[in-house]
Amino acid sequence: MIKKRMNDVNVTGKTVLVRVDFNVPIEDGVITDDNRIRQALPTLENLLERRAKVVCFSHLGRVKTEDDKSGKSLDIVAKKLAEHLGKKVKFVPETRGKTLETAIAALKAGEIMMFENTRFEDIEGKKESKNDENLGRYWASLGDVFINDAFGTAHREHASNVGIATYIDESAAGLLLEKEIDFIGNAIENPKRPFVAILGGVKVSDKIGVIRNLLKKADRVLIGGGMSYTFMRAQGYEIGTSVVEDDKLDLARTLLDEGKDKLVLPIDFKLTKAFDNDAPIRIAARDEFSKEEMGLDVGPKTIEKYQELLTGAKTVVWNGPVGVFEMSNFAKGTIAICETLANLNEATTIIGGGDSAAAAIKFGYETSFSHISTGGGASLEYLEGKTLPGVACLDNR
Ligand code: AMP
Repeated sequence: MIKKRMNDVNVTGKTVLVRVDFNVPIEDGVITDDNRIRQALPTLENLLERRAKVVCFSHLGRVKTEDDKSGKSLDIVAKKLAEHLGKKVKFVPETRGKTLETAIAALKAGEIMMFENTRFEDIEGKKESKNDENLGRYWASLGDVFINDAFGTAHREHASNVGIATYIDESAAGLLLEKEIDFIGNAIENPKRPFVAILGGVKVSDKIGVIRNLLKKADRVLIGGGMSYTFMRAQGYEIGTSVVEDDKLDLARTLLDEGKDKLVLPIDFKLTKAFDNDAPIRIAARDEFSKEEMGLDVGPKTIEKYQELLTGAKTVVWNGPVGVFEMSNFAKGTIAICETLANLNEATTIIGGGDSAAAAIKFGYETSFSHISTGGGASLEYLEGKTLPGVACLDNR
């Protein structure tokens, strides 16, 4: 189903409720990565240029008790947004009530405001996270149009996305949501081939659905990171003290059977005896692990092999680091993947959210790919081929 997009909607002079994903990391009162704020700017600027009255809101972290509220106010996020927009952003530290309603009523065309963390509504009965009907109806009553631009929560059915969309007259996808749907959706449904997927991260169990779906859609699925060892143990290799999910060995065997030559595992590794950046390292083939050693990165032969398999690829989807990239001595495999993808000039390269996005940005590849997703869980569920409630709830075109 093709969803209505924000440029299909007449917003001039209307009160437009915009669900953004401003769930940014904050340490000691400082935003340490404002990528999500920057990614929302095109949508907000577009609405302001078209003289909408913009009311934006987001969740920030998890809030279960009054105490959890501390440090989770969106006030500093509103300030950061104002800096980026070069414009005043009025902040209302409420999620409902007279003050909020008066501020919205006073908003003029071309002005923007923000209200408080939607998850403050979770303290009594998880109203936001359980998509409480009254809350959805109330928020919907505050505006004329709803724009969902929060891809990061599109896999959740919350009052601030699905609830509002259900009870408001008109709803559409924002530019960022549109971009996410276009990039990931096209890669899955209509990829230019060869289509190569790279899947890493710790657990096979987190990515079963994605591996299965990509085995159907991609020409190759390259595996890296901690999940490699569950596959290797399933094949009968000694993996020493490497991370493993022993209860997923049967599943790993099934995936290996289903995947055949399409599913490619690393052939060599960086091994150590301790989970420590300074521990001595040995490079070894997959049949050379001792009982005391763990694999923390892929080795040079694997990097070379994966580079060959990626040569000429026209679509690449990457989700999950291939090593413990947080430790400099085990980051080489993940950096090599970044570098290789950055040099695939003719390919559409899509980086799933979460850790692979963090790694790509950390190593300086933020602008080197076609698209870095802003959603970890959401991009995984989309890659699995699931319908995202935060998208499904929007008006059709
Ligand atoms: P995930 O959240 O499942 O995508 O996993 C990301 C995490 O996997 C990162 O924090 C990496 O440090 C970790 N990781 C990658 N390779 C390994 C490995 N060989 N052993 C343990 N952890 C790993």
